[in-house]
Amino acid sequence: MSNVDTPVVIIGAGPAGLTAARVLTELDIEYMLLSREKVPGENKACAGFVPSDALRDFDIGSFPGAHPVTTVRMKFPRQDMKTVEFEAKIGVNVSRADLGMTMLKLVAAGSGEIRLQTEVGRVSVKQSGCEMTLHKQGQSENLTSEIVIDASGVNPVSLKTVRLRERLPDHLMGYTAQYQMRRPSSMGSLKGMNDFYYGSDFSASGYAWVFPRGHDIAVGTGGLLRSFKDKKKPMFDYLDHLVSHDDSAKVTLENAEVVKRESALVPLAGVVQPSFTDRLMLAGDAAGHCCPITGEGIHYSMIAGKKAAQTAAKAVKKRNYSVGVLSKYEKDWIKAIGSNLKWGLWLQQRMIGSGFGGFGASLLGSDKSRKLIAEMLVGARSVRATLLAAAPTYMVKKLLH
Ligand SMILES: Cc1cc2nc3c(=O)[nH]c(=O)nc-3n(C[C@H](O)[C@H](O)[C@H](O)COP(=O)(O)OP(=O)(O)OC[C@H]3O[C@@H](n4cnc5c(N)ncnc54)[C@H](O)[C@@H]3O)c2cc1C
Repeated sequence: MSNVDTPVVIIGAGPAGLTAARVLTELDIEYMLLSREKVPGENKACAGFVPSDALRDFDIGSFPGAHPVTTVRMKFPRQDMKTVEFEAKIGVNVSRADLGMTMLKLVAAGSGEIRLQTEVGRVSVKQSGCEMTLHKQGQSENLTSEIVIDASGVNPVSLKTVRLRERLPDHLMGYTAQYQMRRPSSMGSLKGMNDFYYGSDFSASGYAWVFPRGHDIAVGTGGLLRSFKDKKKPMFDYLDHLVSHDDSAKVTLENAEVVKRESALVPLAGVVQPSFTDRLMLAGDAAGHCCPITGEGIHYSMIAGKKAAQTAAKAVKKRNYSVGVLSKYEKDWIKAIGSNLKWGLWLQQRMIGSGFGGFGASLLGSDKSRKLIAEMLVGARSVRATLLAAAPTYMVKKLLH
């Protein structure tokens, strides 16, 4: 090995970066994980729903702050709220700080070093290795590595300097606004219910959500950045409408107060390539690993973090960090999550095209199809399988074609 500080650098302690760290530890590969915040996830705007499949795939048992979700309610334009109850837990709602701490604890002590409150500045990738500047409490230092897994979120830090791909355009980028609210009384019979609201009253081109966890509730709205700019209506106006005018939301949010206002971008772009170049892989939101129709990205990011770590381990063992070795990473994540990204984008474009009324309503024609859509929203059914089972016949024919 050449004279570098560490073979692998992971940037970002989100689900992608923390999973990459966990896998590299298991594979006994030396690495350094660098991330900005003190508690992983504490500053991340997120509704915090983690599907059961993600918990199972990554052996995450019950943990503090995890609130089981068993029911989905959906409101489409000109329809009443539809309720789908599941027999078992379909996932949990968590604060991102609780999820971050849980995932951090799962990274056993071993081959890696984790440096929190450390910001990565300029990243340069040369033929001879990677170099980056670190900033911590007013101090700066340089760090070198053989390879970088950039899991620093939707606008990855490495893309400021490395010419890998362009920033996502506004019609493939999501924009969200969210209130973290707190109600004085407990949720009672509304416990375990995640609500989805579609239509132009609630979002410029996406949906709004109400996800409770104990006394805390994430109330948000999201849509494509382009629609938001076109409509010229502040995102928080949609939220205020939901909070004060929708009868179901008013019950859930009874006497609740806003404790935090947040907004954030989220990639809703389908399969974004390339996700790697010599010595560099992007993982999670950094690579667009978020479902374009549901906005779900936690499980996707964990999967991508795992695949990136496995490829990095191979590269380190072979001492070969070229695209020839790293291309395996892109093949792996496309195999695992590519279908959902692709069909999620397909469905997103049709839903927006039909103003969320016609097409959405046609998908929700029966109890059976409502159940299927609910399963897709909570990550329990793939987008393609949902479409094949729930879409009208003419659409299924098109899909199969
Ligand atoms: C409002 C909102 C609600 C959402 N709700 C859900 C949901 O309910 N369920 C779901 O599955 N998905 C949800 N998502 C999507 C989900 O949050 C993301 O897909 C997921 O967090 C991506 O994980 P990640 O590890 O790729 O990146 P992130 O979670 O964004 O983590 C990136 C990490 O990199 C660090 N970082 C960034 N820049 C630097 C730097 N220069 N130096 C050092 N560290 C840096 C950050 O501090 C952070 O720790 C939501 C997104 C939004 C915006």
